[in-house]
Amino acid sequence: MDVVVIGAGIVGASAALTLAERGVSVTVLDRGSVAGEASGLNAGLIGGGGWGDRPDVEVTLKMGSRQRYLDLAQERGHDIGLDLTGTLTLIRTEAEWDWAAAMVEASRRAGRQLELVTGAELIDLEPNVDPELAGAILDPLGARAEPVAATQAFAIEAQRAGAVIETGCTVTGLRPRAGGGWEVEVDRPRPRAVGAEAVIIAAGAWCAELAAMAGVEVPIVAVSGQMWASEPRPQMLRHALAACESSLAWSLESAIRVGDEEAGGDQAGGGLAPPELTHRAGRRLTRHLYGRQRPNGELVFGGDRVWTSAGDRTVDGDGIAVNHAHVAELLPLVARLPPARTWSGLMPFTRDGRPLIGPVAEVGHDGLYLAGGLASSGFGRGPMAGQLIADLVTGRDPAVDLGPVLPAGRVRRRDDTRATASTD
Ligand SMILES: Cc1cc2nc3c(=O)[nH]c(=O)nc-3n(C[C@H](O)[C@H](O)[C@H](O)COP(=O)(O)OP(=O)(O)OC[C@H]3O[C@@H](n4cnc5c(N)ncnc54)[C@H](O)[C@@H]3O)c2cc1C
Repeated sequence: MDVVVIGAGIVGASAALTLAERGVSVTVLDRGSVAGEASGLNAGLIGGGGWGDRPDVEVTLKMGSRQRYLDLAQERGHDIGLDLTGTLTLIRTEAEWDWAAAMVEASRRAGRQLELVTGAELIDLEPNVDPELAGAILDPLGARAEPVAATQAFAIEAQRAGAVIETGCTVTGLRPRAGGGWEVEVDRPRPRAVGAEAVIIAAGAWCAELAAMAGVEVPIVAVSGQMWASEPRPQMLRHALAACESSLAWSLESAIRVGDEEAGGDQAGGGLAPPELTHRAGRRLTRHLYGRQRPNGELVFGGDRVWTSAGDRTVDGDGIAVNHAHVAELLPLVARLPPARTWSGLMPFTRDGRPLIGPVAEVGHDGLYLAGGLASSGFGRGPMAGQLIADLVTGRDPAVDLGPVLPAGRVRRRDDTRATASTD
């Protein structure tokens, strides 16, 4: 069997590894470089929480991905900066504490492993945080890794197993072949068509653009994520950090979203905005925060998530300033550590908040698959998304109900650009 994977981010690289190790002939095509987009630009936080009593697809994406990172570092010997110290989500207010307590209790009932720690316990765990904080949610299985090194490690392993990775090669068209399979048109090193029995679109924030080439409308939009890093400092943070402020705001958001849906959306011509953004209709809804200290000593933090026109990577200086001030409220010594560099990347958000992983039957022709929409936590969920899509392509049972993430019923055929079978 031969498969083309479009996109050499964390999802495409992981899918290529599993496919190649199962004897599939795999070609990965990327218009940039391996880890050149979100998979190399992110904060490097990896969720945990534990498998619980009855792992659903969401738990499987998180914990399966964590396992794949462990495999890369511990079994295959890649230095990906993997750190398993855990994640603390900091709690400031009483309302945040109440929300966090209910969440931890629900997770405990499901057999998962989050813990609530008091302010005094928090200082023992993380001595540099504001001593006035109410406490934190401790995810002892939270982890972090270096995004570029980790994504490249999947690509290196895939190549070792026989995958071919072509970078600097833009996919410009997707056409079904009359006899089955697909023709993937590329522009470089010369315009040509690459044939394959199956094609996996793993193109991150550009999944909708690629699917449109096959005549399918996919509800994935580009959301810009903003980051900053300090100069390298001596070790001052043990855990990866996040803050409860946005979690509380987003837990109250569903009612507002239903109102938007009834009103036809909150963005001109754009339909319903994805959930869990920091801004709505151009105005700030909440402050979001996550970050860590890298092995080289840099503090790396970010948080703002703004729905943008695809391809807009403008760094928002005001947003970075808000995020820096928020970090300094929780970790006071950051007030003296201004951002030394800033950047942004594009995250693939779905409008309903669920990833899209599975076959795209709407195209009316077998062999087209989608693996994307992993939003703001695709570094922590991408490795398993790649493995699950490889399971589907190779006819293996993914051992979890993929119902909530399947494209069926969530993508639709575009009437104007119906894909027609090529006969050449
Ligand atoms: C600032 C920021 C911080 C984040 N922090 C975290 C975090 O801490 N933890 C976490 O879990 N997640 C985080 N994320 C989210 C995570 O990075 C993404 O969800 C994940 O990397 C998406 O992976 P992907 O493989 O789907 O897409 P990408 O990494 O975007 O890869 C898609 C690839 O497709 C290629 N492509 C696109 N169009 C074409 C074409 N026409 N032809 C050929 N190739 C094409 C692109 O060049 C790109 O390399 C963050 C994201 C950002 C931007």
